[in-house]
Amino acid sequence: MRQLYDLHCHSTASDGALSPTELVNRAHQQGVTDLALTDHDTTAGLAEAEDCAIDAGIRLIAGIELSTNWHDDCFHIIGLGIDPAYLPLAEATHNLQRTRLERAEKVSHKLEKKNIHGAFEAVVKAARDGMITRTHFADFLVAQNHVSTRQEAFDRYLAKGKPAYVPTPWADLEQGINWITECGGVAVLAHPLRYKLAANWMKRLLTAFKEAGGQGIEVVTGRIGPDEIDLAADYARRFDLAGSTGSDFHSPDNEWVELGKLAPLPVNIKPVWELLH
Ligand code: AMP
Ligand code: MN
Ligand code: MN
Ligand code: MN
Repeated sequence: MRQLYDLHCHSTASDGALSPTELVNRAHQQGVTDLALTDHDTTAGLAEAEDCAIDAGIRLIAGIELSTNWHDDCFHIIGLGIDPAYLPLAEATHNLQRTRLERAEKVSHKLEKKNIHGAFEAVVKAARDGMITRTHFADFLVAQNHVSTRQEAFDRYLAKGKPAYVPTPWADLEQGINWITECGGVAVLAHPLRYKLAANWMKRLLTAFKEAGGQGIEVVTGRIGPDEIDLAADYARRFDLAGSTGSDFHSPDNEWVELGKLAPLPVNIKPVWELLH
């Protein structure tokens, strides 16, 4: 049977709309044979996803999407084949839950100053026990009619440089990569083109990423066109990185992104799944 890999998606453990069980079942329905659940800064959804994957007969790869800092900007590193029981990683995710809670308080204060009330209570409730993300704030701003779309919420309030933006003390890029690789995982740079780096900064980033032990780069992601795939593939070849494919699925409401709905990895790229055991 042909394998279909989707190595990047989110559940209710972070900012996804589906529970781990719903997500795995949907992936199965879409023909995905190998799925990595990669919630933001948490592994809390993995046990439930694994139980469901066994029942559905698909392979679950234990994953995470770690927020990291490099030169004052945030970069997302996907860990694939991680061990959620590895103590430094478990401690890191535990601490990141507090970091995110504290950031949410600060974001809420900034929104109060813009006369927007009730954000903190709303995002805590919406995230339940999971990670509080800016997506939760965006949904709150839409629900309260302050904006009409998630994108507008980021553009007007939540993105860097906007009134409710709060810089967050994520771990350094190198530290994040270490947490992944020390427990046997493969570190993959998520959605490399979304950072909008100039070519010289991209080169510096990929050099630092490789030096720290990073092995892969996302070449095919959810909403990416052929030109962007070529560009990301070019980075993979030039920096001798394996290529990953992942939808970055968050919700069935986004009609542009679906689990497993991905262009094939270009043939001359080494697939990242060959590095997973
Ligand atoms: P956080 O990790 O809490 O800073 O939130 C980051 C998440 O917000 C990302 O993973 C996306 O799901 C979402 N996000 C970031 N920027 C945008 C944007 N411009 N439009 C919609 N969602 C975004
Ligand atoms: Mn997200
Ligand atoms: Mn991301
Ligand atoms: Mn993601």
